[in-house]
Amino acid sequence: MPEDCIFCMIRDGVIPSEKLYSDDDCFVIRDINPLAPTHLLVIPNRCFSQLSELVDEPDAMFASVFAAARKMAAQEGIAESGYRLIVNQGSDGGQEVAHFHMHILGGKSLRGLGLG
Ligand code: AMP
Repeated sequence: MPEDCIFCMIRDGVIPSEKLYSDDDCFVIRDINPLAPTHLLVIPNRCFSQLSELVDEPDAMFASVFAAARKMAAQEGIAESGYRLIVNQGSDGGQEVAHFHMHILGGKSLRGLGLG
């Protein structure tokens, strides 16, 4: 784990941030720069940057990430209206924080922002 990883520091409580949800595999925070009324980040506890780094990651970890997204969408009241899940990977993907995470965006129509 890089010592300057923001999400590791949030995970470890070094940087204060409200954890809306946590389990053995992941936790959820609000994005500091929201691009929609609901903008959350689902962050695995394990620090890795890209899917390509994983050769033996248990499916259970990704199941937890998607389960957390499903629970948080319901909790935020956007399960019925819909939402977008985004994972940015690498430079061309626009990834800024090198600790894998999934964005949950919703609370308004995301049509017209590209990709549908
Ligand atoms: P990405 O471009 O997919 O790497 O997205 C990184 C996201 O992390 C951006 O949307 C940032 O606004 C968000 N972010 C960076 N620092 C923090 C922080 N301290 N707390 C919450 N979100 C953050």
